[in-house]
Amino acid sequence: MPTPEEIEAQLTGPGGPFEIVDETVLGEGVRVFKDRPPNLRAILEASIGHGDKDYIVCGELRLSFAEHARVVASVARALGERFGVEKGDRVAILAANCPEWVIAFWAALSLGAIPVGLNAWWAGDEILYGVDNCDPKLLIADRKRLSRIDSAPARLAGLAVPVVEIESEFEKLWHHDLAASLPDTPIDEDDPATILYTSGTTGRPKGAVNTHRNIIALCRIQIFHGVRTMMRNADRAGSRAPEGAPCALVNTPLFHVSGLYAGAVTLLASGVKTVWMTGRFDPVKTMEMIQRERVTNWGPMGTMIYRIVNHPDVGDYDLSSLRNVGSGGAPISPELQECMRETFPNIRGQMGIGYGLTESTALATLNSGPDLERTPNSVGRPLPTVELEIRGADGQTLGEGIEGEVHIRGPLVMKEYWRNPEATAQTILPGRWLRTGDIGRLEEGRLFLNSRMRDLILRGGENVYPVEIEHRLEAHPDVREAAVVGVAHPELGQEVKAIVVPIEGARIDTAELGRFVADRLASFKVPAHWEVRSELLPRNAAGKLLKHVLTGDAENPFVEE
Ligand code: AMP
Repeated sequence: MPTPEEIEAQLTGPGGPFEIVDETVLGEGVRVFKDRPPNLRAILEASIGHGDKDYIVCGELRLSFAEHARVVASVARALGERFGVEKGDRVAILAANCPEWVIAFWAALSLGAIPVGLNAWWAGDEILYGVDNCDPKLLIADRKRLSRIDSAPARLAGLAVPVVEIESEFEKLWHHDLAASLPDTPIDEDDPATILYTSGTTGRPKGAVNTHRNIIALCRIQIFHGVRTMMRNADRAGSRAPEGAPCALVNTPLFHVSGLYAGAVTLLASGVKTVWMTGRFDPVKTMEMIQRERVTNWGPMGTMIYRIVNHPDVGDYDLSSLRNVGSGGAPISPELQECMRETFPNIRGQMGIGYGLTESTALATLNSGPDLERTPNSVGRPLPTVELEIRGADGQTLGEGIEGEVHIRGPLVMKEYWRNPEATAQTILPGRWLRTGDIGRLEEGRLFLNSRMRDLILRGGENVYPVEIEHRLEAHPDVREAAVVGVAHPELGQEVKAIVVPIEGARIDTAELGRFVADRLASFKVPAHWEVRSELLPRNAAGKLLKHVLTGDAENPFVEE
């Protein structure tokens, strides 16, 4: 039986389906997949070959791959003829997940224009900031988001942006010319494909520009990972072939890499049926959907997983169809990982946790299957084509086991921040190394991630990484979620403070919880200050904790869905 390393070498070596070669990209030599589509429109064109198979299922709507491409061609034609959208123009999309979002995205892309995913949780001022920043030819938005902009028409008029309201006007684009063919504007691999705004967990969000090459590299990596998992499992005793056709549930936001790239793009490229859920996350509706549509693949956020695995009625649903569950974007404690395996028994051996940023087109490392079970605290090894280094404050590369800032290089690294050369220069270093702002260490090639640099607590001479303490607190049976922050201390600089939310009906004894932390962690990591809250901690749409909101240093800029 081949080892995982042998399987990887077979797939990525000379003559393999995912052969890796060296090429010059944006002036730097990087490793890329030899076989790849020339641009994202080619992926769309190839999807027509999936014909009448379902691509999008959303509420009452079922759209096949062929119908989807026809509607995209019609909308693309309308964007060009009615709004003069051309190559390089931005088309901003501001809506809850819906089929129109996906269609508008593919239509703009296929014209060589740049779809911009504006954050659907933004309040009015953020929306205006985003629209002003990306300077679009057109804004496609749903009514609910438009209503968040006070005196929207006048203020948008100030920005001179025509608006297509999805509920009342998208229909005309949909039916503009259903006999149209897809555009044929030349598109280069390194042309900008999308702009997605960074989480904005601090400061003003920045528009990360991902190119066609970036997103295609991600697609190839995800497909590579699917093939690798199949090959690894093929020889394992007791492994089962998946039942029926694959079907993916998507309920992460389309304005984030998780919903848009891992959801819409890779699943179209793989010919997989997608079931979309819109609106606020609802564990019961999600379980019903998994059961009804026999969902096989899901990429949930940690907060969603928590609510399902702890739901009192979870045992009433047949969730056995789920085979592949991949998550990431925020830490998922080993305890929660194990609960997932118990709740979805058929994901054992296949579950994955990835690490990446919008700036690295969603991914950089992945830990999955038996590896994840062995090292649940690691986010895994770099994926093919990705180079990873840990660097010290002086920029020097650090050795095995030493904590430093994670740097990433390869075809996944974004082109730039939109119209922000200063921020680009601070983030993309010579050699096109991406500075991530995350602290981690490498051990035997595996990345162990600590907190973001800005969340690091400096207590006396010691570095304290909140995530380690948060995981320990969340391992306590009475704790639902926890956040650890630094508070000022005259002598030590900072001290550790824990904010904990108990599970329903539990009472937190902070002295006992402190002892629970001390059982496993050094005494300087035991929180000196405690706060028990009954309401859930503030998070953004990608499930990340908003620590500056939590500590009262900023207002929550989001309108939670
Ligand atoms: P975003 O660009 O909004 O997706 O945020 C990227 C950030 O999310 C990274 O810089 C990390 O701080 C964090 N992140 C991503 N994946 C993980 C993970 N698996 N575990 C912990 N943090 C993660």
